[in-house]
Amino acid sequence: MANDLHPGKKIYPAHGDPIRIVPLHVPDSVRQPTAEAAAAGPTPAPQLTFRNGPLITAVEVFTIFWGPAWQAAQSAIATQINQFFDFILTSSLIDQLGEYSVPGHQISQGKRTGTLTITTPRLRHSVSDRGIQHMLQLYFVYVQPGVRIVQGGGASCQAFCGYHNDMSSQIFYAAMPYPGCGGCTGGLSVFDALTSTSSHELCEAITDPIPGLGWYDDANGEIGDICAWKTKKIGQYTVQLEWSNQANQCV
Ligand SMILES: [Zn+2]
Repeated sequence: MANDLHPGKKIYPAHGDPIRIVPLHVPDSVRQPTAEAAAAGPTPAPQLTFRNGPLITAVEVFTIFWGPAWQAAQSAIATQINQFFDFILTSSLIDQLGEYSVPGHQISQGKRTGTLTITTPRLRHSVSDRGIQHMLQLYFVYVQPGVRIVQGGGASCQAFCGYHNDMSSQIFYAAMPYPGCGGCTGGLSVFDALTSTSSHELCEAITDPIPGLGWYDDANGEIGDICAWKTKKIGQYTVQLEWSNQANQCV
């Protein structure tokens, strides 16, 4: 998996473990090339290629805030994250992904379809599978402060700051740990770090919803991985730059 904890020793997955993560932020001052990396030569220039998998063309985002802290001390930031999605899903951030449209699948602006704060993983009432498929495209799950997410042999704040994946190729989700460490704030405020990592996973989920089967670069990963922790402002929000094949740079 992409992992900037070990600069120059990036390991990208074969299809066995294609989950894409937001790597921890590493200050430039400690980004020293390793002897191994020097021997391996320069990383190839980024160029995403399309692998014929699905794209999310008009994304519908549903946020899930998991843990009682989201109802109490953290309720303001949960509200702010929802406002962030309401704004950013109809912003230039989504427009810039238009270059990754393919015939019959035009990537266009989306919307937030709802939000939920849950305190247990158990659903209290039944919901049909068909209902779920019609209601939701992309779940963003925010785990409350102090709880780490373990995935693929690593953990949040130790190996990653977020990731996205698919369930049964139909329901897509992004797992967002609370940025409770310097590696996952990258010098930003907690909220700006959350919107930066959220925009990273949002753009990747749209252009590569089944990791590795959409727009992908075997050496450099997905659209957001190439530009990890490079940010800009859209409106009042901090978002991450994303790779543009057309511009041949992060935009
Ligand atoms: Zn990524």
